[in-house]
Amino acid sequence: MIAKVEPLTPARSLRGPFDYLLAGALEAVGVGAMLVVPFGNRRLLGVVVDVAEESDLPPERLAEPLAALEANVPPDLVRLGLWVAREYVSTPARGLALVLPPGTGTGSGRRMAARRSLAASITEPGRRALEGGVRLGERQQAALEALRERPRRVSALVRDTGCDHGGLRRLEKRGLVILEQALEEARRPVLRGVGAVGAVRGLTKAQRDALGEVVRRMDAPDGGDRRLLLRGVTGSGKTEVYLRAVAAALDRGWSAIVLVPEIALTPQTASRFVQRFGDSVAVLHSRLSARERYDEWSRLRSGEARVCVGPRSAVFAPLTALGLIVVDEEHDGSYKQEGDPRYDARHVAERRAEVCGAVLLAGSATPRPESVLRYERVELRERIDSRGLPPVELVGMAGVSGPLHERTRDALDEVRRREEKAIVLLNRRGWSNYLSCAECGRVWECPNCDVTLVLHRAAGRMSCHHCGHAEPVPCSCPDCGSVSVSRRGLGTEQLGAELERLVDPLPVLRLDADTAPGGGIARALERFDAAPAGVLVGTQMVAKGHDFPDVTLGVVLDADATLRFPDFRAEERTFALVAQLAGRSGRGSRGGKVVVQALDPQARALRHAARHDSEGFVAGELERRAALGYPPHGNLIRVVCSSHEPGPETAAADAVRRLIDAPGVVVLGPAPLFRLKARERAQLVVKAADRAAGIAAVRAAVESVSSSAEHRGASYAVDVDPQ
Ligand code: ADP
Ligand code: ZN
Ligand code: ZN
Repeated sequence: MIAKVEPLTPARSLRGPFDYLLAGALEAVGVGAMLVVPFGNRRLLGVVVDVAEESDLPPERLAEPLAALEANVPPDLVRLGLWVAREYVSTPARGLALVLPPGTGTGSGRRMAARRSLAASITEPGRRALEGGVRLGERQQAALEALRERPRRVSALVRDTGCDHGGLRRLEKRGLVILEQALEEARRPVLRGVGAVGAVRGLTKAQRDALGEVVRRMDAPDGGDRRLLLRGVTGSGKTEVYLRAVAAALDRGWSAIVLVPEIALTPQTASRFVQRFGDSVAVLHSRLSARERYDEWSRLRSGEARVCVGPRSAVFAPLTALGLIVVDEEHDGSYKQEGDPRYDARHVAERRAEVCGAVLLAGSATPRPESVLRYERVELRERIDSRGLPPVELVGMAGVSGPLHERTRDALDEVRRREEKAIVLLNRRGWSNYLSCAECGRVWECPNCDVTLVLHRAAGRMSCHHCGHAEPVPCSCPDCGSVSVSRRGLGTEQLGAELERLVDPLPVLRLDADTAPGGGIARALERFDAAPAGVLVGTQMVAKGHDFPDVTLGVVLDADATLRFPDFRAEERTFALVAQLAGRSGRGSRGGKVVVQALDPQARALRHAARHDSEGFVAGELERRAALGYPPHGNLIRVVCSSHEPGPETAAADAVRRLIDAPGVVVLGPAPLFRLKARERAQLVVKAADRAAGIAAVRAAVESVSSSAEHRGASYAVDVDPQ
């Protein structure tokens, strides 16, 4: 037999698959096997993507693989990885790296393997020995007792009973225990930042109906559309529907994937799945060690775990007989991967579900126009216990001095007096977002990127939020020598200090990328949850799906800042941010309200968000996009060419543009982008009515230009469905 092997190398130019001859012990490997193969005078790790009877090459030119790794990948995941590579204009190796066991991918160093250790179990004669009549040392007796329930690791047994290895060996000789090398139980990592979660008894009528629609799709005959959008206002009990849907899949002998935005931010959701399904859940989150990640992967691969909960990469969980994929908070931007391959887990989930006949259940209070247009829908229109959605007041900031409107101050003061809780959102971290010289107008900018440096006062420096460059805070202007340097624009750090004065003595907790490292997110959420009263202030992190029942006030500052970006998704993002933050308020018996500050409170996205009107917002958005040919009424592909020196990036972009030639495909640009990480950039935006045709045209053009000697100075990044 011949194995077609795709080598896992980061090199774009090395494209397989290459043929290898299977013989001897490796005769029977199939698609998904991971092989060490000779390649020229190197050895490479590769994945078998196909097997065939014969090769086009003469037998004497075929090499044999050197070895096979212990782990392998389900064949349908191999196909999914290759599909991602094509769909997102990447390489097969990078597509496959997504579906391999953690720690294998392209160019990784030490490889993980299953952990084995010596384990002891009791025999039948051993059990009888415990009933008496057999002479046993005290410690041997203790060891046998400990093994009565279940087999144990020898190291743990020695520690707990004091019976040493010699003692255990003597028990083995007498036939009372068996000692053997066994696969170690994967250790279950713990989720932090989780309070107790109440059990839910019965479902509401709306939840029952929604679940009914899910189950109907599970049991529908082959070939039907199994995609479903669950639009449910914030606090309507969507998670409970997901839980029951997963239970229904398990009942049918199937497995399930639950995608969630970022587990560190909303540990509650993941922990509800663990509470409900116990050890059959594997949770993949970013704070796992490489070893824990590998262990969870192995538990899924072996079938020990049948449910995978995790962020976007969990869409590649090695589960077989998949019956359901849930996408929680489907509007969330974190489903899109930023590095190559720039895949969108929502799109991959749709593909995976379709290929294996699984139900796709996407849920949100603020679903994307794409999903509203394309999926059938069920609705949860009311909050649990018929609690109303909080009233939202829009206030204009024109002519207001200081960061807070009078209405906002009053509302915060009320929270202070009544000892309640508030969440305040400002989507800008740092102290102030730029420094300028009051004399000559100099603005401090990043030397690598064309953006201003942000002042972080506690850290005592100014830093670039794009490349990480940092420098000390200046005392004077290097251009004119003036010492009057003014701090402009407000960030979460300064706002936090301002709020501390305002709501004193209530605690103010900050949640943003600066406070996140080292478990800072979990700590802030735990403390806010446990405090009887207080304020949580931060970036969009505070608007995620937290369920704090006692928050009575939500505040958004500079809500239309996001609208000032030249991006067709700006309105969608603004709407979701404000509506989601509003959804954090008034979940408990005390009710709640929301104040939204904006320069233009009449903006369409804000007016709809203030009415919690996702339906109306999306209808208008779809109309606008249809007129412009934007998604979902058309496809966008972004090509960014970059180079170290100015010049090659624009020349390369021009060349790509000239080569893209397909009916129904329009290319805009090249347009210059701001310098980033010391690279000059030029961008093309490709609009295509037909997705496959657009992707194929871009791939052909980029491959041709990137392999030409003329444009060697440029690099290329292709982003299908840019966010
Ligand atoms: P969503 O995800 O739609 O924002 P959640 O799933 O967080 O809403 O549910 C909001 C709250 O309502 C949670 O505290 C949850 O435990 C509770 N809940 C959900 N379903 C029910 C039910 N049928 N009966 C009582 N409480 C429920
Ligand atoms: Zn100056
Ligand atoms: Zn920078």
